[in-house]
Amino acid sequence: MNEFVDALRASAYLLAFTGAGMDTESNLPDFRGAGGLWKKHDPRNLASTEALHNNYELFQEFYSQRIQNLSSVSPHRGHEILARWEQEGLLKGIITQNVSGLHVQAGSKNVMELHGNIRHIYCENCGVDHEGEDFFAGVRCSCGGLLRPGVTLFGESLPQEAFHQAMEELSKADMILILGTSLEVFPAARLPFMYPMKRAYVDLEAYADGRIEHVFKEKIGPFLETVDRSLEEYLKE
Ligand SMILES: [Zn+2]
Repeated sequence: MNEFVDALRASAYLLAFTGAGMDTESNLPDFRGAGGLWKKHDPRNLASTEALHNNYELFQEFYSQRIQNLSSVSPHRGHEILARWEQEGLLKGIITQNVSGLHVQAGSKNVMELHGNIRHIYCENCGVDHEGEDFFAGVRCSCGGLLRPGVTLFGESLPQEAFHQAMEELSKADMILILGTSLEVFPAARLPFMYPMKRAYVDLEAYADGRIEHVFKEKIGPFLETVDRSLEEYLKE
C-alpha cells in the first residue's frame, strides 16, 4: 500500500479507468452480470440495434426502467474522491465504460464516456435531443423518428469523440488506476495497456497480471478512502 501511495504522489499525469464494479457499489444492478436477466430476456439481446429496430416496445421498456432505476442511485465515496482529486490536480481525467453518468454527477469534469450516457435521450432519425419523459411515454420525435438513449448498443461502434479523447489522454499518462472492471472485454482489455505507464488495479475480483504493478482485491470506495487518508497524512508532514 505504501509503495502504491508513493507512486500515486510521484505521478505527473494520473488517469482513472472505471467499469461496472464502480457503479455496483452504488447499488446499481449490473445488467451484464451473472444471472442478470430482465423479464427472462438476456440484456445483451435488448441492448442492441436489433431490438431498437425490431422490438422497440421491449427496448423502450427496458431502457426506461434502467434510467428510472438511476434516479434512486447516488455517487458513492469513491466517485466523490475521484472528483475531488481532479479539482486538486492529482487526477487528470476519467475514462469510463459506465453509462450511468455518476462520475459527472459526482462533479468530475474530464470524463470520457466510452459507451455513452444512458440519460442522454435523442432521436435516432434526426439526432435532436429529447427529455427522458418523452422516451418513457413512448412518444416519437416530431420527425417521426424513434427516441433512444445515448448508449452504445451491440451492433454499434464506440462514440468516436470519447474514444479519440481517451487515446489522447492515455498517450500523456504516466499512471492509471483501473477500477471495477474485469479487464476481459474490449476496450478494458486493451486501452489501459496501449501506452507505457504505471498501473494499479482495484476490484473485488482483481487478479495478478504481469503488466500491473499494484493489484488490490478490494471494494473501490473504502479503498480510495484509505488512500485519500494516506495522502492527507503526507500533506500534514
Ligand atoms: Zn427526429
